[in-house]
Order: sequence, then structure tokens, then C-alpha cells
Amino acid sequence: MDSYIFNKLQNIKNEKLYRCEKNIDKLNIKINLSSNDYLSMSKNPVLFNEAINAINLYGVGSPSSRLVSGNLSIHKNLEKTITSLKETEDTIVVGSGYIANLGVLSSLCSKDFIIFSDKINHASIVDGAILSRAKLVRYKHCDTNDLIEKITQYSNYRKVIITDSVFSMDGDVAPLEALSEISKKYNALLIVDDAHGFGVLGKNGSGALEHLRLKNENIIQIGTLSKAVGNYGGFITGKKLYIDYFRNFLRGFIYSTALPPSVILSSEKSIEIISTMKNDREILRENSIYLRTKLKNMKLETVEGETPIIPIILKGEEKVLDISKKLLEKGIYVPAIRKPTVPKGLERIRVSLNTNISKKDIDIFLNNLKELI
Ligand code: PLP
Repeated sequence: MDSYIFNKLQNIKNEKLYRCEKNIDKLNIKINLSSNDYLSMSKNPVLFNEAINAINLYGVGSPSSRLVSGNLSIHKNLEKTITSLKETEDTIVVGSGYIANLGVLSSLCSKDFIIFSDKINHASIVDGAILSRAKLVRYKHCDTNDLIEKITQYSNYRKVIITDSVFSMDGDVAPLEALSEISKKYNALLIVDDAHGFGVLGKNGSGALEHLRLKNENIIQIGTLSKAVGNYGGFITGKKLYIDYFRNFLRGFIYSTALPPSVILSSEKSIEIISTMKNDREILRENSIYLRTKLKNMKLETVEGETPIIPIILKGEEKVLDISKKLLEKGIYVPAIRKPTVPKGLERIRVSLNTNISKKDIDIFLNNLKELI
């Protein structure tokens, strides 16, 4: 077994795909272009106080899963706050966005289901589909014609369509209105992973559906507390009937310890604040357009959009690693993204903007990048 494991690691080292984590606190980062903390909520002092209050009231951990003795009124209050912002009927909070995707697909689908999944959906969706044992069909990225072509080939299955709202490596937004129509026409359930939309898109920060003014109460939305909310955890929101189902069948909810009170209380406050942060969302949008325009002027390949996720596709594992390393030496952190996160040949550095990044920071980054390419 040791030689099997050693060889697997050696292979990825040879392919320049070996990874190890960096101690971020030990690096001298002046401009951090890698964070999903889009609204800088993780450093909001109001939330520190909420977390400390929760620790004083309830302690640092939860004693068990939600269905045993881990459920406090604050868990329910957080769920109500999410339900209200999302304008859905009910919500359950689970351990992470990863658990939410894994759990929704694996608890709902089985061998008589077929899951139509966008080709570049998040890994947790792919893993959930595999765990469910349903048939998995991946349609071309954001290509509704390809989806229709594929969906019409299968009649004897229960159908699910699942997509990221904002794609985590490309930053583009899924054609949700068209997907909603297709789901109605072909009697499929539509699931939207709004991990990168929640807090960032829509006037009130409710996410991609608000942004597109899309109303369809049959859509199940997945979200995370670990990005714009600046904390940790995941949630599922939608019709009462569906949420009740997940409360009873989703194993990551039933068999995993409740999130700690400090996370719950500070997340709820964060969501309350986020819903008022219209100006910050607008600045984030303006800055993302500013960076994309400048990249185009520099003739660099990116993906159209207005979200704070902006890929710069440079191609080549060594190239992206080298540029990321050299930028870091100058105090600018932009991660290199390679296989298996993106397909071979589409290696990139990926910028994630947040409200602490100014246009001046963007210019400093671009001037440094110019010297390296
Ligand atoms: N869905 C998408 C699209 C993501 O980018 C992520 C990111 O990590 C997740 C789900 C998982 O969320 P979490 O970090 O809360 O597990």
C-alpha cells in the first residue's frame, strides 16, 4: 500500500499538480486576491461581539447533532433569517456548502433518477451525484440547447437539473431563467447552488434569483455561510415540503454535530447586515468590470461577467504556478488554478475581489502582472 500511495503522490509531483497549504498568516500579503470573503464580513467587529456573546451564553461547541440536543433557538432564528432574505418557505442549515450539495443529491436521488449537471459545476455536486447512484449526465457549460438535446433522450427517469449560479472558477452566471423553463417543460427538479451569489448578487444580496428577478418556488437553493457571510456552514432553502424531506433524510444533517453557537449567532447578524449593503455590492460590481476591462485592453483571456470572480487564463501548469509565486513575492496573492479544478489547457490565476480591494490595488496588481507575462 505504501508504494501505491507514494507513486500516486510522485505522479502528481511530476505533473506539477502536487499541492500543499500555505501558512497565510506567515506571508507578507498586502493585496489578497484569493478570498471568498467578498463583503469583508469575516473581519467585521460587530460579528466578533455576536460570536463572543454566543460563547458566553452557550459555550464553544455544540453537544450533538441538531435532532438530538444540538438545536438551539438561535439555529432556528438563523434559518428564519435566511428564509426571509431568500423569500422561500423554509431552510435548514448544515455543516458546510459541501455537505449541503453532497446531501441534497445523495438523499434525494437514487438509481431511477437522472441528474443533468453543468460540465463545470462544483466538485461537491459531482460527488453528491456519484454518491446518489443516479445516472449522471453532464451538459456543456451553460449550453441550454445541449441540455435540451440530452434531456429529451431520457423518459423513464425522475429528472434533476443542477447548476452553480455563479461558477466558482469562471465567475459567469448560469442561464437560470432558461433552466427554470426547461425544468418546467421536462418535469425536472431544478437545484441551484448559489454559493457565490448569496450576499453578492441582487439588490438585497439574496443571490442570483433576485438578481435575475426569477421566481419559481420549486427551485431548491443551496448556499454557504463561508463566502459573503464571512463565516462557516451551509444551507438548503426552498419549499417546506422539500426542506422537511431533507430534515428527515439528509445524512449530513442527521449524523453530524450542529454548528457551534458562535457561528450561528454571528452568521445571522452577518446576513442582516449584508441585506443592507447595496453600496458595497455596487462597488464590488464596478471594480469587477474595471478589472475585466483592463484585462481585455491588455489582451489577456478572461470570462465576461460582472461578478467578483475573474479568471485570467494563461495556460500551462508551470506558467501559472510561476506567476502566482512571483506575485506573492511582491505581496500580491492570486492563486494558481490547475487540473483537476479546471481542465488541462485552461490553467489560470483566479482573482476574487472583495470590498477591501480598491481600484488602486487592482492597478498595482496589473502593473506587476504586466511585467511577468
Ligand atoms: N459550491 C460552490 C459553487 C463552491 O464554490 C463551494 C466552495 O467551496 C462550495 C459549494 C462549498 O462550500 P463550503 O466551502 O461551505 O463547503
